[in-house]
Amino acid sequence: MKHRLLGLLAIALIAPNADAQLKALKFRAVVDAPGHVIPNGVILVDGDKISAVVATNYRLPDNAQIIDLTRYTAIPGMIDVHTHMSYYWDSTSGTDPWRQPQRTPAQTVELARANLRRTLETGVTTVRDLGASNYMDIALRDSVNKAGWIGPRMFVAGYGLSRARPPYRPNTDTTQTQRGRVFAIAQIPDAVKQQVDAGADYIKMYGSTGTGADVTGNETFTFDEMKAAVDAAKSFGKRIAIHSYGPDGGRDAVRAGATSLEHAIDLDDSTLARMAHDGIFYVPTIDHNRYYAQYREAYHYTAQQAAGLDSFRLLNIETARRAYKAGVRLGMGSDAVHIMFGQNTRELGWFAQIGMSPSEVLATATTNGAAILGMEKSLGRIAPGYYADIVAVEGDPLADVRAVIDRVRWVMKGGAVVVDKTR
Ligand SMILES: [Zn+2]
Repeated sequence: MKHRLLGLLAIALIAPNADAQLKALKFRAVVDAPGHVIPNGVILVDGDKISAVVATNYRLPDNAQIIDLTRYTAIPGMIDVHTHMSYYWDSTSGTDPWRQPQRTPAQTVELARANLRRTLETGVTTVRDLGASNYMDIALRDSVNKAGWIGPRMFVAGYGLSRARPPYRPNTDTTQTQRGRVFAIAQIPDAVKQQVDAGADYIKMYGSTGTGADVTGNETFTFDEMKAAVDAAKSFGKRIAIHSYGPDGGRDAVRAGATSLEHAIDLDDSTLARMAHDGIFYVPTIDHNRYYAQYREAYHYTAQQAAGLDSFRLLNIETARRAYKAGVRLGMGSDAVHIMFGQNTRELGWFAQIGMSPSEVLATATTNGAAILGMEKSLGRIAPGYYADIVAVEGDPLADVRAVIDRVRWVMKGGAVVVDKTR
């Protein structure tokens, strides 16, 4: 008896909304992949996967639950390839987000559920989370996957690898890497292995300075060190994102064979050509500096710091424009922290500004995101066998990208309705 009750409880926890019943989602149009439209399309969803995409005159199975979304256009669930879901801040607390009172990791994980929800509301159903302390990202991912928490599917990195810098605190053991901090090149494979052993899906390396209002971009790991990290990641079958605000770290990250380069400005032409040739993705995260400047009072940044953020953002836009022209594939990464969740897709507005067509903009958040994760066969499109990650937007996303950024009305993730603003 006790066992049976526990079994029922487990089922209820694992599947909050998804039921086994076949669902037929009827749309005004289905953008099944960037640039391709099925007018009056119907998406059949079986469990957590899409079983078919058909025209409206198709005879629907009798047992299907019909969901009428004919006022909307369907796009694939979007992928934000640069988040920090565990960075939580209560904006009513009167504290500075970077200087909050101590909390336990368990408390923070619980509070960060709000970040998960706000992200889903933007139509983002998958994230690559690039750096967390105390493996809170792994706790969040597993709570979504195994305990039925409402949130995007998460691919996480654990601790990002960073260069330890003297002066060290007394009694610091510099003979071993810990919490992603590396004292010597020989420790890099260990630092990577620690993240993999903890359950990381992806590896992150901080290849330069630069965070928050600091936009300095001085290289912190050499080419050889970046190469050691790339090789170690590959030896575990993992991909690696390298952070660099500046061009030197960017060039070396590309030469070392990173999967994606995050943030970097002023990349030289040969680096861009190499990225295009080698298929290395550029994730410029332009919008996060707009965010820091806009919320500078919350962060207690000075007017001068805000001006620095603005200048960096302009260089970032220019570098993204040159990368796009050089044929580099871009990914949509918000670098969302704290109260930026809910604004995850504003990056797409900058991509429209550099001259991308709406379907190219949509690709950065769908097919390119899936390629960055190595999930091209199951994410980023609306097609049979893919996860039923589907977003209903008002308007035509291939005519006006604002439909995607501002007018998300309904979201399904893995066959479960997680956002519904249709009424
Ligand atoms: Zn970041």
